[in-house]
Amino acid sequence: MSALMPTYAPADLAFEKGEGVYLYTADGRRFLDFCAGIAVNCMGHAHPHLVEALTSQAQKLWHVSNLYVIPGQIELAERLAQASFADRVFFSNSGAEALEGAIKIARKYQKDNGHPERYRVIGCENAFHGRTLATIAAAGQEKLLEGFAPVVDGFDHVAYGNLNEMRAAITDETAAILVEPVQGEGGLKAAPENYLKGLRDICDEFGLLLMFDEVQCGMGRTGKLFAHEWADIKPDVVATAKGIGGGFPLGAILTTEDAAVLGVGNHGTTYGGNPLAMAVGGAVLDELLKDGFMDRVIAMGEAVGAGLNALVEKFPTVFVEARGLGLMRGIKLAEGIDNRAFKSELEGAGLLVAPAGDNVLRLLPPLIIDATHVTEAMDTFAAVAARHAAA
Ligand SMILES: *Cc1c(COP(=O)(O)O)cnc(C)c1O
Repeated sequence: MSALMPTYAPADLAFEKGEGVYLYTADGRRFLDFCAGIAVNCMGHAHPHLVEALTSQAQKLWHVSNLYVIPGQIELAERLAQASFADRVFFSNSGAEALEGAIKIARKYQKDNGHPERYRVIGCENAFHGRTLATIAAAGQEKLLEGFAPVVDGFDHVAYGNLNEMRAAITDETAAILVEPVQGEGGLKAAPENYLKGLRDICDEFGLLLMFDEVQCGMGRTGKLFAHEWADIKPDVVATAKGIGGGFPLGAILTTEDAAVLGVGNHGTTYGGNPLAMAVGGAVLDELLKDGFMDRVIAMGEAVGAGLNALVEKFPTVFVEARGLGLMRGIKLAEGIDNRAFKSELEGAGLLVAPAGDNVLRLLPPLIIDATHVTEAMDTFAAVAARHAAA
């Protein structure tokens, strides 16, 4: 038995190197990577610009702590603010930490505005916000909370996409609403466009902060820098991570000036925003903000979506429904076909995807894919589906 704590049940696969959209095992097998480290490797593997940013920074300075000025933080915060709704940015190491900070902001914002009694956050069923005590409470799913009682107080839940339930759940103690614009782990569900707009109206009416968890759907994943931009609204707080570091651990909280309530002594982290992270984060943003980059993400997203719809049509006994937005796509498998077993079969055929709740498989390829990769992935899906359809 290994000394490693058995918190994961990994596939029997270990990779030695990656190049672009492909991963390679030590014995030379090649895999098309439509998992991308669960929406992390947005620029694929060993992207030359990211490798250059990391290695040149590594020769100068890795870490100094936030006791000293880190110019890279000031610069990356400014660039993120320029490109988004935000005025202020805090850098963390992960998604869960960014969300912990967002929850702290919700409480402090209300206290600073004369409402210390408002501390509760309303979220959605089937949400995922990370694995810390507060973020499992924020998600509220039984499978995440089991064994870890007492549940951190201050979180309520309503059905995703339902504005009436959201409105009805607001009390004198509500501080904020926290929603994923596209639910990832929960089964790859995109919010209807009028849902996010409706949430904005509700927050304005009741004096609540509108907070989006864009850890998975942010950083260009849906063809906009942030997924909420599709709804043409401005949130108060956004937590992001995953793609922002392209594989280097990095997260961020973005806020408006009004919601930027964290000051000296209120919040902090040892590693967050260290020079290595800032160098790579800056290189990722260079690529994301290039002319035409998002147009290609949108075009490739439409190609994947069309391919998945065609699979559902061709194999109605295997697939139930195609879902998603941009390059954040899902396909729901028919009852009796286990998504994890199907995922293993795809791996056997050289294609990596990620599982999700609701018997869904997620396709989260690097944002740099081209049409040949889409065709290869769809052909592999079709080949595995054909075996099930014949059975
Ligand atoms: C992955 C994820 C998180 C947690 O991020 P970590 O970096 O694993 O802590 C939170 N919210 C969403 C929507 C995620 O997909």
